[in-house]
Amino acid sequence: MRIPIIAGNWKMHNTVEEALQLVNELKKEVDKTDVRVVICCPFTVLGEVKKAIVDSNIKLGAQNIHWEDSGAYTGEISAAMLKDHGVDYVIIGHSERRQYFNETDETVNRKVIKALEKDLIPILCVGETLEERETDKTYEVVKGQILKALENVDEEEVKKIVVAYEPVWAIGTGKTASPEDANAVIAYIRQVIKEKYGEEISEIVPIQYGGSVKAANATEIMNQEDIDGALVGGASLKAEEFLGIVNF
Ligand code: 13P
Repeated sequence: MRIPIIAGNWKMHNTVEEALQLVNELKKEVDKTDVRVVICCPFTVLGEVKKAIVDSNIKLGAQNIHWEDSGAYTGEISAAMLKDHGVDYVIIGHSERRQYFNETDETVNRKVIKALEKDLIPILCVGETLEERETDKTYEVVKGQILKALENVDEEEVKKIVVAYEPVWAIGTGKTASPEDANAVIAYIRQVIKEKYGEEISEIVPIQYGGSVKAANATEIMNQEDIDGALVGGASLKAEEFLGIVNF
């Protein structure tokens, strides 16, 4: 059985003060659940948030990583720097990074490999744009993203990753894929993983849905057979909403 994993992606929100207020509200309640809860914070609050959650069940995630260990890469953050702050998870290949910061399938692949090498769990994001969906390319696009991201990732390593299916048109728009549609794409992603790594491994990898998940729709999304969790943007910024999802 895969344990559900609910992750908040705070994106570019929350100063230290705001972050600590939110985390302190989450902490007490999250300890009562069996689901895996991760909050993916901006780099600038990782250290303070880690101190606030050490005695809780909340795990810490970052939103990006560089693929080199160190060097002249102004503005970038390495795996070792994330580990320094107690980070366990890192979002890789979010569509906002692909769209605004030239992230490609190739850089996503390099980041996945580096994260795994350094014992960070990648939350690998894939998903189609509206245009791709409307021209019936969803499955082809998602398959291409998954296979490229997992190039040179072996069977032992792939067992550690989390995949997040986030249709780009559903992010921050209030539109969600219907639970059945999201489930169908997620089942297909599992099939792609099965073709590459075999059934046993494909049954281990948790696959989340992301895109306008909120407390009000979390139950029907989480009740789908192949959906193992949610990657939550806007609704992760409010304690009550996020807890509503955690307790789906
Ligand atoms: P929203 O939940 O705000 O739609 O964002 C989803 C997302 O991008 C999570 O990574």
